[in-house]
This record gives sequence, structure tokens and C-alpha cells, in this order.
Amino acid sequence: MAWRSSGSTNSELIANMAKNGIFSATEVQTAMAKVDRANYVVNKRDAYVDAPSPIGHDATISAPHMHAYATEYLLPFLKPGAKVLDVGSGSGYLCAVFHHIVAEQGKVVGIDHIPELVRWSVENLKRDGLGQALDSGAIEVVCGDGRQGYANAGPYDAIHVGAAAPTLPQPLVDQLAAPGRMFIPVGDVAQVILLVDKDAQGNVTKKELMDVRYVPLTDRKK
Ligand code: SAH
Repeated sequence: MAWRSSGSTNSELIANMAKNGIFSATEVQTAMAKVDRANYVVNKRDAYVDAPSPIGHDATISAPHMHAYATEYLLPFLKPGAKVLDVGSGSGYLCAVFHHIVAEQGKVVGIDHIPELVRWSVENLKRDGLGQALDSGAIEVVCGDGRQGYANAGPYDAIHVGAAAPTLPQPLVDQLAAPGRMFIPVGDVAQVILLVDKDAQGNVTKKELMDVRYVPLTDRKK
């Protein structure tokens, strides 16, 4: 019942999500409260609605409860100072949330293959007060094929993928730190969230979390 958490302000949205039991950890709630979703949507009327909203280029900003859900799963690996990769970063919303958790000493890389979305997400982050984090390199948004990851800044303690891949891209598994965790929707018509864990010895295990419907991770030409 996603819509139940909608609010008329950002703090109301977060408070309603908390009331509906979306958060188990205060870190995620605190971080999401610092990010004003109005800065990351095209249609301002959708800012505090707990539903996905179109951001152009066939992309959508995910629903707040999905952003919360993904962040909760990654949280054990989002210690201050951690490195995070957000594949299909779109609006930049989750880059902001991750940044508030891993803090200035951490590093968040967002990667998207649509240059206009990359530029827009940087504007969004600045409008949301994160210009300094972009200047320092604590947040970086790059344009590229996220299926290849972004090895330059890896390995990553946590990888979030915001678009569904037909199969699990091996470069992303390779770029996970040991230990590290990836949250990724996988599949074509029927998609599931896979939680991919790499332990300290480099052993990889996968667990299916839930059925979902995400924008596909595609070739830019499509
Ligand atoms: N987490 C984002 C979701 C955006 S929708 C948000 O909430 O704002 C999925 C995004 O994945 C789109 O921005 C799309 O451009 C991007 N995407 C799709 N295929 C990609 C690829 N191969 N490499 C990088 N980004 C991709």
C-alpha cells in the first residue's frame, strides 16, 4: 500500500513511511529526511507521493518506499567512509541518501547512460545542498554503461542497481569489495530483486528478495 505513506511535505512523507513500518533503522530515516524529493522530480505535484514518477528519457524516479527498502538492505555495508556505486542513478536521489550515510569521508558514484539525466541529477544534487559534496568528490556522477560498472573508483562496499538487467552483470560482481553487498533487480518480464553478498573470502551468494517491476537496464540506443 505504497500510497498510504504519501504526504504534503517531505517530513510528512518520511513520518508516514515511519508510521507504516518502512524503516527498521534510524540511519535510513534520518538520511531520507535530509533529502528533499522535490529537488529530484520533474512534476512537483509528485514530490511527496509514495509512487514512481517520470523523469523523462523513459526513466522514472523510484517510489520513496523502494528507495528506503533498497537502502535498508545495503545499510550494513554503508558505514561512514564506505564506497558506493549507484547504477542507473537517474534523478540522483539515492546518491544523496547514500552520501548522508557514508558521510563526507565516504564516496558515492552514480552512473547513468543518458547524459541529460547525468547533468540534471548534478543540478538536483546542488539544489539539494550537495554542491560541496560534488566539489570534494564525495559524490560523483558519471555517464556510461552501468552494466560495466565503474572500475576506476571500485571496489565498492555496496552497489545499488536501479534498473533491471536480464542477467546479473559479472563486472558488477567483480567490482564488489570483499565483503560487499549488491541490490539488483534481475529478469525480463518477471523480475526479482537479487541480494548478492560477497564475503571476506570472496565467496558470492545470492538470495531472491521479492518480485518487482523496474525500468530495464538497456543499450542507450534503445
Ligand atoms: N534510481 C533512479 C532510477 C532511475 S530509472 C531514481 O530513482 O531516480 C533507471 C535508470 O537507469 C534510468 O535513469 C536509465 O537511464 C538508467 N539506465 C538504463 N540502462 C542503463 C545502462 N545500461 N547504464 C546506465 N544507466 C542505465
